[in-house]
Amino acid sequence: MKAVVMEGPKLPLEVRDMPVPEVGPRDVLIKVMACGVCRSDWHIWQGDWAWIGLKPPMPAILGHEQAGIVEQVGADVRLIKPGMRVLTPFHNGCGACRFCNSGDSNLCERAGRRTGGFAQYAVIGGADFNAIPLPDEVSFAAGAAMGCRFMTAYHGVADRGEVKGGDWVVVNGCGGIGLSAIQVAASLGAQVIAVDLDETKLVRAREQGAVATVDATAGDVPARVREITGGGADVSVDALGIKATLLNSVNSLRKGGIHVQIGLTSAAEAGEVSLPVDAMVFNEVQFRGSLGNPHHHYRPMLNMVVSGKLNPESIVSERIALADVPRVMESMGSFGTVGFTTIEDFS
Ligand SMILES: [Zn+2]
Ligand SMILES: [Zn+2]
Repeated sequence: MKAVVMEGPKLPLEVRDMPVPEVGPRDVLIKVMACGVCRSDWHIWQGDWAWIGLKPPMPAILGHEQAGIVEQVGADVRLIKPGMRVLTPFHNGCGACRFCNSGDSNLCERAGRRTGGFAQYAVIGGADFNAIPLPDEVSFAAGAAMGCRFMTAYHGVADRGEVKGGDWVVVNGCGGIGLSAIQVAASLGAQVIAVDLDETKLVRAREQGAVATVDATAGDVPARVREITGGGADVSVDALGIKATLLNSVNSLRKGGIHVQIGLTSAAEAGEVSLPVDAMVFNEVQFRGSLGNPHHHYRPMLNMVVSGKLNPESIVSERIALADVPRVMESMGSFGTVGFTTIEDFS
């Protein structure tokens, strides 16, 4: 099969012939129909996140935002059948540990095997749990986005941020996750303020439902947010994970506000950013991490996509071929992509 192969951190990515991955008894093999190119793929390519133990063996096939058609099923798979359209959350769950059992499968203690989506075929391990059927009304491109960025934004906003109608919500960073967070928060009835330093992305943010935008190059972001909201936001999201967006987010909150950290940090922070602890205590500001989306939350999210209340596909701005992946990954170093860039041509 054709795949985009990474040999090591920052080494050139190449399209190459690779063996089709083997299918274990609890796995399924899918023909990949769509796969998003996510900033997390770029981070792994840069060698980031070794500080939290994320260091895939080389050579690696990246891509973790895939949807496709089931081609082959392992001997012990009961619910997933050949020909089914499925997506899969980037965090597999074992389906049996204490976190999976209590509904927090995004925090699974022993997430299983899966292979990368920058390829014609990919394996989903523990498929009865981790292959999520994609309704016929939902495109593969939308399904792919719900493997990582869109579902991550959904969980961050709806669950971790507890966003409700009328809330002021700030979204810092209007990449794929940020635009998704804006769409989800707006669909829940929140008033969303989008922050970025790229005018094109702020235009996209308004299209996704932001009622106000703040140009981060124009000065004091938290002061501007306090002005717009009359005292600070109820919820603020860091959708990027650099020091500036993280601190802007925390400092934009009203008393009792909730900061949701979705973005993981880059090489400059290496996982650590100093926080204004005293102010956070005095203001009872909450700092909440948010990772992926527990499996059982797929049902309400997919229902909202089917009914048209949510529209992940509207965030797709470029549809590419597998051979374009190296170029797109390169451009991510300078934040060159807008919205979702999705591979749809695997020939
Ligand atoms: Zn588990
Ligand atoms: Zn991702």
